[in-house]
Amino acid sequence: MSSSNNPIPSGPLARRASRRVLVQHGERKIWVGGDAPVVVQSMTNTDTADAVGTAIQIKELARAGSELVRLTVDRPEAAAAVPYIRDQLDKMGIDVPLVGDFHYNGHTLLTEYPDCAAALSKYRINPGNVGKGAKRDTQFAQMIEVAAKYDKPVRIGVNWGSLDQALLARIMDENAAREHPWTAQAVMYEALITSAIENAVRAEELGLARDKIILSCKVSGVQDLIAVYRELGKRCDYPLHLGLTEAGMGSKGIVASTAALSVLLQEGIGDTIRISLTPEPGGDRTKEVVVGQEILQTMGLRKFTPMVIACPGCGRTTSTVFQELADDIQCYLREQMPEWKKTFPGVEAMNVAVMGCIVNGPGESKHANIGISLPGTGESPAAPVFVDGEKVATLRGDNIVGEFQAIVLEYVKKNYSKAA
Ligand code: SF4
Repeated sequence: MSSSNNPIPSGPLARRASRRVLVQHGERKIWVGGDAPVVVQSMTNTDTADAVGTAIQIKELARAGSELVRLTVDRPEAAAAVPYIRDQLDKMGIDVPLVGDFHYNGHTLLTEYPDCAAALSKYRINPGNVGKGAKRDTQFAQMIEVAAKYDKPVRIGVNWGSLDQALLARIMDENAAREHPWTAQAVMYEALITSAIENAVRAEELGLARDKIILSCKVSGVQDLIAVYRELGKRCDYPLHLGLTEAGMGSKGIVASTAALSVLLQEGIGDTIRISLTPEPGGDRTKEVVVGQEILQTMGLRKFTPMVIACPGCGRTTSTVFQELADDIQCYLREQMPEWKKTFPGVEAMNVAVMGCIVNGPGESKHANIGISLPGTGESPAAPVFVDGEKVATLRGDNIVGEFQAIVLEYVKKNYSKAA
């Protein structure tokens, strides 16, 4: 028998040791890597040249909790809009650092639009989309020189859909010369990792400080992503940005991203994440932020918003009151968080249980900070409410949702006010 007091280990492995990179706008400092918490980021899908529309979407993403927001900088009109977007956000009190996403012409845009280069807090450079032949080295160097001049960090973001073809050809040639050639899949992994690391080393040689570099190697397959990042994590100490590229729509995108990222995060790999969901037509872009936060929070890595524990419902719940209450209370809690974060520190750790009937309702409710057990079919139309394990009220009638929200708010004020 084990002599340990805690024989069944729990929780993720220690975070992989990495350098810390500071991404900053004014007083707002976001650390990526080292012992900093895993950062949630997102990306706009507006035309950046539409400065007002883009500023509004960035505001929504930041309000939802995105700690960095990336935007496409693809042409002169977009580069010209960036300082205006930054200015608009500052006027609205939104200090989220902005990351510029550059492909093909980043060297020209960053050089010809110095206000854009200065307004951004970080640049993302895809080494597969920098240029071909001799131009590639010159154009890459131009972007790194701008980053060094403005003291901006850079993410060297490799993507298997735009892998540097010259580098891939070189790795394939090396493979062909092996006595026992690797599989095509292993060659692709090697090309992704080599591209990221060689370009990071090149950036350092060009004068970018080592603590200004973050790496990513995005692929769209769950097992591929896990394999590539495990190896990348072993070969370097740069902070790593995780994301399953082109994750897809709806539940598939969420499940695939969660499956891939949770394995890596559990192994201590990953310093910042983005969930690349394809929004439904007219859908809410902030969903990718919520999913990213929920992955980290349900894994116990960070706390962002009070969590609602709800039972799935079954044949004992024939009315929709239970689903409506669970949904209403989750939305209510999330909507309050931008303000509550400032006024009620620690509230993000609160748990609220919404249960459908007496079978597990009272038990689960007692384990939460606040819980309500709604009446199942055939049960008396009363909903006991538990606060810190004690029954404090029984709600009845048509306004159970409103009364329960009032109890939640009272609990928050009492337990999380700065003076409490
Ligand atoms: S708590 Fe009640 S309603 Fe909810 S799943 Fe369990 S038995 Fe069904």
